[in-house]
Amino acid sequence: MGGMADFWIAGRAASSDDLVVVTSPLDGREVGRTANASPQQVEQAVVAAVDVAKRAAQLPASARAAALDHVSRRLGERAEEVAALITAENGKPLMWAQAEVNRAVSTFRFAAEEARRSSGELMRLDTDPAVAGRMAVVRRFPKGPILGITPFNFPLNLVAHKVAPAIAVGAPIIVKPAPATPLTSLLLGEILAETDLPAGMFSILPLPNDRAPALVADPRLPVVSFTGSGPVGAAIREAVPHKHVTLELGGNAAAVVCEDYKDLDWAAQRIALFSNYQAGQSCIAVQRVIVHSSVAEAFLPKLVEAVAALDVSKQVGPLISEAAAIRVEDWVRESGGQVLIGGQRDGAWFSPAVLTQVPPEAKVVREEVFGPVLVVSIVDSDDAAFAAVNDSQYGLQAGVFTSNVQTAFRAHAVLEVGGVIVGDVPSYRADQMPYGGVKGSGTGREGVRSAMEDYTDPRVMVLTGL
Ligand code: NAD
Repeated sequence: MGGMADFWIAGRAASSDDLVVVTSPLDGREVGRTANASPQQVEQAVVAAVDVAKRAAQLPASARAAALDHVSRRLGERAEEVAALITAENGKPLMWAQAEVNRAVSTFRFAAEEARRSSGELMRLDTDPAVAGRMAVVRRFPKGPILGITPFNFPLNLVAHKVAPAIAVGAPIIVKPAPATPLTSLLLGEILAETDLPAGMFSILPLPNDRAPALVADPRLPVVSFTGSGPVGAAIREAVPHKHVTLELGGNAAAVVCEDYKDLDWAAQRIALFSNYQAGQSCIAVQRVIVHSSVAEAFLPKLVEAVAALDVSKQVGPLISEAAAIRVEDWVRESGGQVLIGGQRDGAWFSPAVLTQVPPEAKVVREEVFGPVLVVSIVDSDDAAFAAVNDSQYGLQAGVFTSNVQTAFRAHAVLEVGGVIVGDVPSYRADQMPYGGVKGSGTGREGVRSAMEDYTDPRVMVLTGL
């Protein structure tokens, strides 16, 4: 990281002597250095964000959109370098790192489009016979500076999902990246610093876990947008019940293969890949597959074959640490299930595992595995499959392999999740759609437009005598 700043305070490079050495999960080698921001530097970032907030809210759409377009373009130009850095610090195979960069390019571009498009709403009020000559103009104004806290599994995208909508609405943002993967967010900071955004619009502050709660509690930051694990999300909700908190938490996402579904090769290949992509470390990786008994016999061998055919170094990769892989290994061993394939650990690597006949109370079913493990269960009706999907503390997204439109609508109506993907795995996400969960998977939605709403309050102006 020659020349890279330690971190970013109010749009400017800063450093401290609290060194952080970032190592690769692939081989433990050092991939770069940064430093934790000192308490004084955190204070500077907060003061700068508060100072600029009013001015930022007045930035013309053209300025907000130009900054977002710039970031999109520069990420595209530096795509190879950014992808290599994601792989270096996170360990995920390059193909997923490249996909992540492409997604961030489109997130910023889409945010630029939304910044140009969003104009508020005009409402007529004269539908009530007692009201004549009145109209309402609804415009949205930023709630104030945003605190974004992000996890390790998408070191660029999950930061982009918070930063791009913040710029789009003209809200300053302070990002606290995951301690294991801060470098990609700091590279994004380099690109953000090239824009004409006013100082104070963004700070990116590496901090250890135990220094995050103080920022969360800071009354000058009214919005906390958190992506990460359930327990930390719950702690944040409890710590600041009066703040506007968005929680994008974990899941144990399920895919259902319905009675009518014919293209079992496609279902098997998609489920195999998206159970194991980046070693299953995605909140919407397929963890459970629930198969109708009438197709189970044909489907299971295809699934095992598709898992066996995965290229582990190109498509799966290691877990973030050996400790994470040991936890996954323990959960598989304790599950009491039958292992059809995989399940061997070598350091931080864990070979993609498919389990059947797992007791429903096992951790690999009930908790978020966040590893390359797939649990298969077989049921006798599609409705029983939907009930099994709902038998979870989580509810992020579900995949439903059906070609029957009635089944699709029934799934959409009954599944307790934030999104139902018909004809594919639950692991699909696009920035146009609201994204988020119910139950233990969180509250609020991301996706550019949803986050823009999240970061702003509507303010109504009623005009009379029209
Ligand atoms: P994590 O909860 O351990 O850490 C996430 C972030 O929270 C890090 O920046 C960490 O430093 C910070 N943090 C830790 N303790 C904190 C505290 N007490 N107060 C405030 N911040 C604190 O999560 P992780 O292990 O980095 O990431 C994996 C988790 O993220 C999984 O559960 C996964 O499902 C979830 N995730 C959810 C989504 C989604 O959009 N729903 C997307 C990706 C990942």
